[in-house]
Amino acid sequence: MTDEFTVPVYYDDDANSDVIADKTVAVLGYGSQGHAHAQNLDDSGIDVIVGLRQSSDSWTQAENDGLRVATPDDAAAEADIVSMLVPDTVQPAVFEAISDGLEEGDTLQFAHGFNIHYNQIQPPEGVDVTMIAPKTPGHLLRRNYVEDTGTPALLAVYQNTTGEAKEEALAYAQAIGCTRAGVVETTFREEVETDLFGEQAVLCGGITSLIKKGYETLVDAGYSPEMAYFECLNEMKLIVDLMYEGGMAEMWNSVSDTAEYGGLAVGPEIVDESVRENMDEALEAVQNGEFAREWIAENQAGRPSYTQLYRADRNHDIEEVGARLRALFSWAEEEAPEEAEAPADD
Ligand code: NAD
Ligand code: MG
Repeated sequence: MTDEFTVPVYYDDDANSDVIADKTVAVLGYGSQGHAHAQNLDDSGIDVIVGLRQSSDSWTQAENDGLRVATPDDAAAEADIVSMLVPDTVQPAVFEAISDGLEEGDTLQFAHGFNIHYNQIQPPEGVDVTMIAPKTPGHLLRRNYVEDTGTPALLAVYQNTTGEAKEEALAYAQAIGCTRAGVVETTFREEVETDLFGEQAVLCGGITSLIKKGYETLVDAGYSPEMAYFECLNEMKLIVDLMYEGGMAEMWNSVSDTAEYGGLAVGPEIVDESVRENMDEALEAVQNGEFAREWIAENQAGRPSYTQLYRADRNHDIEEVGARLRALFSWAEEEAPEEAEAPADD
């Protein structure tokens, strides 16, 4: 552990692999996170059983990867640790199917806290409830493990009946390769609320709205869609890469003085205090459960609004222009091997 941060961060030395060495882990789901957890645990010498519906295409996939597979209820009954890695929206139903297999002293583990925090899953007493949430998509969790680097993760304990919940979660994090990079301790509440806020206001929602509004402003003013696409969407990656490498300061240092002055002077007038007020509202809806209730009801009703929003989004001009331009310029990636080292698929 290190004292350099405001929150505890754990590394390999803080984890004790003996804690899970003799345990069986049921990994429910074999999607993005599931396949990576299952294979990393297996390579770390942990007994793994993948839990899938009999109809699932992933069943043979997991078997071909050398793993044992059973139905979720059979897998959970056999396991000491049940890792819930099916989509968040189906977790409550899967939990109903497996809850009989959770014995006293077992652990129910998550990679995201939504269903626990918003009471969609009520775990039995006597069971530990923990979270190890890798901060990357599953294919990178797997790749980093194989390449002997690591993937940062969040750790949280919601219910600790054995007294060993945190130690066990740390050992699990080590077995999937996360303590190599650092495991940050948080709570279910903090993980859920910051995650939902971030994806709505800044990452997925905020940035796409900003790009679209910029694109529409240029196109409506008579500029070509191609120019608007390059300026507002394509160049975003270059700017984000610079911030990722060296913070905003490195980005400002790399652009021209004109860009730096214009950005500093005009940016806050675009994303202004009214946007900040909108962000406060979005955060409040996350904190008071309003967003969660809306999303749960939306799923129960068969996703009518989601379907509408999704269609409208995919039909936006920017997608059509983008598809044409990316096809035209795909030669650039193939002929520039030094570019190929950057993760291209996130
Ligand atoms: P996913 O959609 O990639 O995979 C879901 C898997 O569950 C598939 O194998 C599917 O066949 C299986 N499945 C679906 N319905 C099922 C059912 N009724 N019974 C049994 N299996 C079923 O899911 P994911 O993105 O890996 O998400 C899993 C968890 O990890 C979620 O809690 C998510 O929030 C969390 N998480 C995801 C990421 C990510 O990058 N994808 C990152 C961190 C945390
Ligand atoms: Mg069990």
